[in-house]
Amino acid sequence: MPRNLEKYLYKQMDKEAGIEHTFHRTKIVATVGPACDTYEKLLELVKAGVNIFRLNFSHGAHEDKKRIIEYIRELNEKEPYNISILGDLQGPKLRVGEIENGMIDIQPGDVLTFTNEKLLGTKERIYVSYPNLHKDVKIGNTIMIDDGKLEVKVSRVLKNNDVQVVVTLGGILSSKKGVNLPDTKISLPALTEKDLVDLEFVIEQKLDWVALSFVRTAKDIINLKNRLQEANSRTKVIAKIEKPEALQNIRDIIIESDGIMIARGDLGVELPIEQVPLIQKQLIRKCLHRARPVIVATQMMESMIERTKPNRSEITDVANAVLEGADAVMLSAETATGQHPTLVVETMRKIIMEVERTDYRYNLEEVLQPQPHSPSFLSDAICYNACNLAKDCNADALIGMTQSGYTGFMLSSYRPKAPLYIFTKVRSLVNQLSISWGVRAFYYSEEESLDDIFQDQIDILKERGFLKTGNVAVSTGSTPVHLHLPTNVLKITKVE
Ligand code: PEP
Repeated sequence: MPRNLEKYLYKQMDKEAGIEHTFHRTKIVATVGPACDTYEKLLELVKAGVNIFRLNFSHGAHEDKKRIIEYIRELNEKEPYNISILGDLQGPKLRVGEIENGMIDIQPGDVLTFTNEKLLGTKERIYVSYPNLHKDVKIGNTIMIDDGKLEVKVSRVLKNNDVQVVVTLGGILSSKKGVNLPDTKISLPALTEKDLVDLEFVIEQKLDWVALSFVRTAKDIINLKNRLQEANSRTKVIAKIEKPEALQNIRDIIIESDGIMIARGDLGVELPIEQVPLIQKQLIRKCLHRARPVIVATQMMESMIERTKPNRSEITDVANAVLEGADAVMLSAETATGQHPTLVVETMRKIIMEVERTDYRYNLEEVLQPQPHSPSFLSDAICYNACNLAKDCNADALIGMTQSGYTGFMLSSYRPKAPLYIFTKVRSLVNQLSISWGVRAFYYSEEESLDDIFQDQIDILKERGFLKTGNVAVSTGSTPVHLHLPTNVLKITKVE
């Protein structure tokens, strides 16, 4: 069959490039910041194991992000990687304003006044970036400041719309610290004015993924998706789960989102912190059942911001997230501002690979059955049986094709032991799929007979050193090829 030249544009064999050693199934998300924002440093991080770079819109200017995006794209172009870019929108993050002399000491029993009037904060009056604070709070509601280090309770709403609070947990309150209201129904829109400007940038820059912070309901996600659709954007959406309200609406949020981030930082402030580990476990399970990628985030290797070795508890935290079935684990300040960004990625990769080598629970098709009432039941049944077959014949490759990403996400959700290769003619998906557990994606645009396509994909994997003569490959696809139907064919091949 005539071959599309494009697939021979591989700059080097993966093996030569050393890509093989980074083949950890659980992916690594690294936040970009001043500690790693040069081309050389980003490449070093990718070689150490990063699959997705996160750009945090809570910090930095668009200009700097643009430069980083160019570096990542250049890196994808020159090297044999498909690194994904995730833009993380700040959402309705609340903060106190500037404080006189930078900080004040507040003690239990002190009475403070919060106002929506922009002013330099003193022990008498402090600005909070929440215009409707007086309307939304009720007497007795808790307000947490600085990741819950400080806590106050609402005692009165004054005639001038200021809110009086009594300090219950004291300490030093400094400028610009974050504010959380765990038991208040916040009326702020999910996308703030800043988010809308940042979203425009995300769309313009064609980022692979966008994460929305402080999601409360599925409507927040639908609204964001509508905006993306109106702009003809292919960017996929991650819902950051960090509010109790989101947990109440979690089923619909997962259905509407393309992926989930368990944002343990704010989640641990908004909820009793001891609840976070089990919520993490439950959210991962729910995402596995719906084939949605799930990222476990925040403080995974926190001590390595300064130190060269992680705490034992951090190693266990990463290992547990992997064992629980996360698609990806995330680094925040560790790579953005930490002292050892490359070492922390290397260390994380080693922990992941050790778990995957030894005690990992592969082949989840026993627990994730296709649902007969689902509109995608037939293609789900093919994916399910493909994974089963791959397990039964100890296959060396499980190969899928996708136009929407669905088959890629679905096959991945079974956590197959056979290495998973996904071919797609949709360029944007090649990088987007990098977030999914175990997926290696390839651009592929042939539209010949399915027999030829299956053989060609095996040849490509053989040429790249992923398969050899005598290996067994399980392939899925759809026929008639030109109709691009959901996956409806399953084939097993002995590689010649
Ligand atoms: C978190 O709260 O855990 C989180 C990932 O969000 P951010 O870093 O944007 O505060």
